Amino acid sequence: MYPAQFEYHKAGTVKEALDLLIKYKDEAKLLAGGHSLLPAMKLRLAQPKHLVDIGKVSGLAGIKEEGGTLVIGAMTTHYAIESSAVLKSKCPLLPEVAGQIGDPMVRNLGTLGGSLAHADPAADWPAAVIALGAELVAEGPKGRRTIKVDDFFKGLLTTALAENEILTEIRVPACGANVKCAYAKFPHPASRFAVVGVAAVLTLDGGGKIGKASIGITGAGTKATRAKGVEAAIAGKPADAASIQAAASSAADGVDVQADLQGSVEYKQHLLRVFAKRAMEAAAAKK
Ligand SMILES: Cc1cc2nc3c(=O)[nH]c(=O)nc-3n(C[C@H](O)[C@H](O)[C@H](O)COP(=O)(O)OP(=O)(O)OC[C@H]3O[C@@H](n4cnc5c(N)ncnc54)[C@H](O)[C@@H]3O)c2cc1C
Repeated sequence: MYPAQFEYHKAGTVKEALDLLIKYKDEAKLLAGGHSLLPAMKLRLAQPKHLVDIGKVSGLAGIKEEGGTLVIGAMTTHYAIESSAVLKSKCPLLPEVAGQIGDPMVRNLGTLGGSLAHADPAADWPAAVIALGAELVAEGPKGRRTIKVDDFFKGLLTTALAENEILTEIRVPACGANVKCAYAKFPHPASRFAVVGVAAVLTLDGGGKIGKASIGITGAGTKATRAKGVEAAIAGKPADAASIQAAASSAADGVDVQADLQGSVEYKQHLLRVFAKRAMEAAAAKK
């Protein structure tokens, strides 16, 4: 399995990468960690004539806090997120999710930005960034723009990014002490991709109730989405087993669940209910 012939370009800056994307148009593809693009190229599912490597673009990788916002560069690897002290303390959902992706090689090379831009329907990050209410920053020929996560995933392997835009950073609010998060997934036994994955972010109101719930799901359909049925069902309810069990029964409501090689629609709906319950229980149990 060899990829079709291509020309390799190494960008040193975002501007250089953008210039190459503008020059080669739909014949060019950005190369981040390569752990989705290269397998697709080897299978000849993708045959870009020009690869623009952004691996050494300065400023695209790293994690910092700006006020109450955590800013993660698009080229930040899964492992860097998994091992980040600031994220473990200010947004523990992200390290938790990172540790469940693939294997050590995938985690050391694959990037948050690459995963989000690729928009694999079974990827883990989309569920997490939806639950966290992230904002995604893109740079293109017309400058910089910010895309709300609820507007980002458009369909199978399709996002709001234009062909000549680069995802540069992902911004998530730091979690206060009253915000409890967890990710529960049913991993494919071979790849570790999510057959179904559910990320839960519960904001407790101080009186033992869930003031607000934000639930992202992946694996169920052609794109990651928000489980609005659960969010509505659990808001204002006590953070106890009975309320969580009742709300989780709405996990598939309004979700466009699709059958695939992993299972039927009914099976995936069942998994959504089971893993929504597990994610909310795990979140509610966090100290
Ligand atoms: C064996 C294996 C197991 C895996 N298991 C899992 C798993 O359990 N869970 C999971 O979620 N993922 C899994 N993955 C996928 C992995 O996480 C990839 O690393 C990730 O999906 C893509 O990131 P990347 O940096 O490798 O992107 P690349 O493969 O380099 O790029 C992917 C696509 O995004 C585009 N792109 C990349 N960066 C940008 C950017 N900054 N702006 C705009 N477009 C960009 C590229 O042009 C390309 O089209 C697995 C992969 C493998 C090979």
